[in-house]
Amino acid sequence: MKGTIRLFKIFGIAINIHITFFLLFFLVLYDGVKGIFLVIGVFFFVTAHELCHSLMAKRFGVTVREITLLPIGGVSSMAEMPEKPIREFLISIAGPISNIAVILIFFFPLKYLLGEHALLDFLKHWRLSTATWPLTLASIYWVNIFLAGFNLIPAFPMDGGRILRSALAAKIGYHKATKAAVALGRVFALIFAYLGIARFNIILIFIAIFVYAAASNEAARVDIKETLNKQRKRDE
Ligand code: ZN
Repeated sequence: MKGTIRLFKIFGIAINIHITFFLLFFLVLYDGVKGIFLVIGVFFFVTAHELCHSLMAKRFGVTVREITLLPIGGVSSMAEMPEKPIREFLISIAGPISNIAVILIFFFPLKYLLGEHALLDFLKHWRLSTATWPLTLASIYWVNIFLAGFNLIPAFPMDGGRILRSALAAKIGYHKATKAAVALGRVFALIFAYLGIARFNIILIFIAIFVYAAASNEAARVDIKETLNKQRKRDE
């Protein structure tokens, strides 16, 4: 991907950061050191989420070249996503599972360390806060609920869309299942765009554009594949 900086390599996978990721730092400039900690926390859990997808993919022999971190999440560059529904299902669910695991494992230790008030403050207004250090640490923890929740939206290209496709593919075939997941992806993109414009939320508008483009890309990819398959069958 253009405009990326290579950070390091882990499990043979290059971790790249897209320059737009640094836009996040401008958003938290006002919050000082605590804001920087929050961005690093987001960075850490997005990377862990993507690594879980990648390590599961590697188990199925899929080559993962790199992970690129964008301000709205991460993208793993896999040689080819397996079309066996159960494999796509396991690879797709591995990311959100990592976030849910963090939420479950660290709930009681953090409640003890930060106090119930600081930890549960987030659930009152669903907003990340850097007002105090305990609230900042709690916010870094709750980032995981956003990562799991957003990625489980059942629309392509989110993980939930892939999970939906793998479930549908077992019944109606890969091509039709993709069409359904892509159509849902476009509906969600329009909803995000509407909300983004109505609330002047730039990040939501970016997400809308990204989701729409990725969904359309996937539709085109499976269409080409389907055409090639039909041609090959005719030639045989
Ligand atoms: Zn994911």
